[in-house]
Amino acid sequence: KKNKILISACLLGCKVRYDGRDNLIDNDFIRHLQQQGRLIPVCPEQEGGLPTPRAAAEIQDKFPLRITSTDGEDVTPQFLSGAEKTLEIAQREGCCCALLKSRSPSCGNLEVYDGNFTGTLKAGSGATADELMRNGFPVYNERQLDQLIEFIELLDGCEPDTQRRAS
Ligand code: SF4
Repeated sequence: KKNKILISACLLGCKVRYDGRDNLIDNDFIRHLQQQGRLIPVCPEQEGGLPTPRAAAEIQDKFPLRITSTDGEDVTPQFLSGAEKTLEIAQREGCCCALLKSRSPSCGNLEVYDGNFTGTLKAGSGATADELMRNGFPVYNERQLDQLIEFIELLDGCEPDTQRRAS
């Protein structure tokens, strides 16, 4: 049985972004994984109970975590709950890794916006990416597809079935 991959739902074309749009990625390997039924789409912000569309949010502080939206609401509880539920889904489904949308306050794995709502990026990761990485899940973003593909092909190649066929 092939490993499953958790994926940000917006990368698969679900219109779950804060502005009601998506971030569909056009890639043959991802389509192939989807056809094999190996992708588990999740939108952590929806899992955490936030509506779509919703006000954009940015991380204000990391320790302790504080995330606010452009309308001034503290949405930290929803982001934390979404992160927890997403981790549960990844564990339940036996995902080997996650492909998450870059730069999101939930899904970003390498950089996030700096909290001033001016489009300025800084190094850091979102609430869900953090939770997954803390629990041992490798997290890639849609700009790291080559690395993701290499990782999955390596895992697929190590499966006992494949090894038996090759010997
Ligand atoms: Fe996409 Fe993640 Fe934002 Fe949901 S929380 S819209 S999956 S980037």
